[in-house]
Amino acid sequence: MRIASLGSGSRGNATLVQHEETTLLIDNGFSLKQFTRRLDRFEIDPASIGAVLLTHEHGDHSGGIERLCNNHEIPLWTAVGTARAALAPEFKYHRLVAGQSVTIGGIEVLPVTVPHDASEPLQFIFHQLDNGKRLGILTDTGHVTRHIIEAFSCLDALLLEFNYDPEMLETGPYPELLKQRVGGNLGHLSNLQSIDLLRQIDTARLSCLVAAHISEKNNRPVIVDQLIRELDGVPTPVLASQNEGFDWISI
Ligand SMILES: [Zn+2]
Ligand SMILES: [Zn+2]
Repeated sequence: MRIASLGSGSRGNATLVQHEETTLLIDNGFSLKQFTRRLDRFEIDPASIGAVLLTHEHGDHSGGIERLCNNHEIPLWTAVGTARAALAPEFKYHRLVAGQSVTIGGIEVLPVTVPHDASEPLQFIFHQLDNGKRLGILTDTGHVTRHIIEAFSCLDALLLEFNYDPEMLETGPYPELLKQRVGGNLGHLSNLQSIDLLRQIDTARLSCLVAAHISEKNNRPVIVDQLIRELDGVPTPVLASQNEGFDWISI
């Protein structure tokens, strides 16, 4: 299994997970033109994407979903609440239910409920069936729950949100209401909350860590990098960027 990103942050997210002939796309917050341009460097034909998984309805994740799926006839998997909030009523999709895994190609996908200010937000754990490797994706999470700690323990790879530095958010350019939303219980994980999560989950098997959804206004990659490097037993992180995402990482 391998993972790559076309871009990560509040201006658009799209993540690829691939195993042999199966390519999954998690979210697409980019216009069809942007998506196609960004996909180009991975030498993947959009029509070869086997399934799109949508985490929640916020525009940075869902903005380009319908166009992409319609254009290339790619099946979409999402929760009912997300479909109602993000898609046209007649749009056909496969239903995801938190805690009930589905198998697509050689990958088993487990949707996990997270606290975030959306209708039915999910994040995912991918399980490569032929070798047991597990990859977790966790962004757009307001706070860390006991359920999240259990679900995201014992992974081989983790893409984790490091959204904001609390001091930069506090003194930064966001209007007061947006500051409260981002920093609130149903907003995003701060650097400190994500570090705390890494301390609480079992990281014995973790060989790959990606820091993602890093705010361009309320955070700096160098701060995230330094905080993670100070932790024992955690691999040196790959930092996902808004413009470039990151290249393939094998798990
Ligand atoms: Zn987001
Ligand atoms: Zn969101």
